[in-house]
Amino acid sequence: MIAFFDRPNRDNMSIQLHDTLRGKKIPFEPLQEGEVTMYLCGPTVYNYAHIGNARPAVVFDLLARVLRRRYKLTFARNITDVDDKINTASIETGKPIDEITAKYIKAYNDDMAALGVRPPDVEPRATQHIDVMIEMIAALIEKGFAYVAQAHVLFDVSSYSQYGELSKRDLREMIAGSRVEVAPYKRAAHDFVLWKPSTPELPGWDSPWGRGRPGWHIECSAMAEKHLGATIDIHAGGQDLVFPHHENECAQSNCAHDGAPFARYWLHNGFLSIDQTKMSKSLGNVLLVHDLIKSVPGEVIRLALLSAHYRQPLDWSAESIEKARRMLDRLYGAVRGIEVSDEARAAAVVPGALVAALEDDLNTPKALAEFFAIARALNKASNVPEKEALAAQMYAAGELMGLMSDDPEKWFAGHVEGDLPADEIEALIEQRNAAKAERDFERADAIRDQLKQAGVSIQDGREGTSWRRGG
Ligand code: AMP
Ligand code: ZN
Repeated sequence: MIAFFDRPNRDNMSIQLHDTLRGKKIPFEPLQEGEVTMYLCGPTVYNYAHIGNARPAVVFDLLARVLRRRYKLTFARNITDVDDKINTASIETGKPIDEITAKYIKAYNDDMAALGVRPPDVEPRATQHIDVMIEMIAALIEKGFAYVAQAHVLFDVSSYSQYGELSKRDLREMIAGSRVEVAPYKRAAHDFVLWKPSTPELPGWDSPWGRGRPGWHIECSAMAEKHLGATIDIHAGGQDLVFPHHENECAQSNCAHDGAPFARYWLHNGFLSIDQTKMSKSLGNVLLVHDLIKSVPGEVIRLALLSAHYRQPLDWSAESIEKARRMLDRLYGAVRGIEVSDEARAAAVVPGALVAALEDDLNTPKALAEFFAIARALNKASNVPEKEALAAQMYAAGELMGLMSDDPEKWFAGHVEGDLPADEIEALIEQRNAAKAERDFERADAIRDQLKQAGVSIQDGREGTSWRRGG
């Protein structure tokens, strides 16, 4: 009998998501039946993305994949290409802004693709949406939620009674505890900028309030409205964005849309630290994905990022990489040498328990445990059809999680910069076999040691010598 993993009928069970606003895990129901809209705050393109920035990209890519199994999803991830940090980078490097943003948009997309992140359905750029931002700001002024002062437009926080609800902050306490020096154009310390004037050297657009540029928060409110509508189902980002960014987005959109809720579910990923330390430029411990992928396969990085639950903090170290590499070795090792026909692939379904784990607020540790359960069953399987069916299930699970996209032989042969290339490894193995045939065991052992030093282990078997990296 073939030990297929069963697939309980979960169609009538909702996906569960933890919503920051309600502060708990709740069943997810989209506003429109069968359709979901999701917005993720994307990168500010003045530098390469670091491994912390990759966490939301990977985690919410996985959520997008999980949602697409059930719904027609429209997923927007914006690009902030107008920002003071970009202006500073331009001044510091002497390079035009367009050149800087074009370079880092491409790098971001290439680097995230290396981590198995699929492109979103829409990738709106702030500079291409200035008109909708101006419209939204004008509406906020007209409705009495914003005011003009010294060529700035500010959101009047006191006009919005729900301010602080998302981040669970009390406005009065915030004011009392505030030590910020109040800019002369602000009525109150917590009023935030919707529009600010630009000098001739800085990027700027004509507006009813003079030549200027938008504040960061209004960018996302305007782009979300334009591409996904007044109320979106899911709004996601890193935990640091809850306040002030998302609180402010929420205030702007809610007021511009006469009280219509902005996002129905707010999802936030926990922070990533490096060797128990916060990543920061001043400490010099910022790990760029662009650099890391030169020596570590993208799938290893993806798996390491998914190994902790997305809401938990995640500490990154050399060990996280090694652990993820070994896990992938086990997964690829299970399917290695098993032929899987197109029919078997088409017939395979992801085991219900794995889907259930992902649909339970993206419980990736549990989902990975289920993934290994299939690998274990496959390692124990004895007949060919059973092996083929289980291997096909593993590929289906991999497809859902964005893992195991490589051919197993390529995975084990695959080398990254600095590693010994596969052809050199094979040449050394041949030399070792020749040495053994001549009963020169000293030489044979020396070659084995040389390979070991290079991180390659070999296994002699009836069919010849096989090899793998690591372990
Ligand atoms: P930024 O370009 O700084 O706006 O960040 C882009 C995304 O990365 C946002 O969703 C941030 O919340 C997220 N992010 C930044 N640093 C980290 C970190 N250390 N761990 C997890 N997420 C982060
Ligand atoms: Zn945003």
